[in-house]
Amino acid sequence: MKLSINMTACEGRGLCAEVLPELITLDDWGFPMLAGGVPPGLEGPARDAVRLCPRLALKLLAHTRSR
Ligand code: SF4
Repeated sequence: MKLSINMTACEGRGLCAEVLPELITLDDWGFPMLAGGVPPGLEGPARDAVRLCPRLALKLLAHTRSR
């Protein structure tokens, strides 16, 4: 699975980085940057980050294979 951020909706307060610091860091302006795919052990916290985002800007997507 992987996380996706809608940067148009994100307001950059960084709650997601507090919930999931292993995979989300903040840039100098407080907007989130993703570390990559979500390992199985972090799927629960990743779902929490999606659920708690006040702007509904985070999504958890299934990996799709490229052709
Ligand atoms: S919690 Fe949502 S709105 Fe806040 S920084 Fe993260 S993605 Fe953006």
